[in-house]
Amino acid sequence: MLHFSCDMCGRPLGKERYVARIEVYPAHDPDEIEESDLDADHLEELAELLDHGADLEIDDAEPKQFRFDLCPECHARYVADPLARERLQRMKYSDN
Ligand SMILES: [Zn+2]
Repeated sequence: MLHFSCDMCGRPLGKERYVARIEVYPAHDPDEIEESDLDADHLEELAELLDHGADLEIDDAEPKQFRFDLCPECHARYVADPLARERLQRMKYSDN
């Protein structure tokens, strides 16, 4: 039998286990250049965009999938703040 532990708190998981699956993918076609991008006005902008983007280039056309096993407590905490926005806010405030 497989044994799971909570990916957030590390506690061993019993029968009450929750799975969080996250998939991130572009909702647009990243390779598609729209006609408006080809307007003379936009070319410079586009070149700049591509320049700046080059540093950050990860293969964002590939869907990224994450899967987490969570205990009931972490599940409750997770669904209350799935993007950890509240936590980030709190961190920001405590820094100042
Ligand atoms: Zn947990």
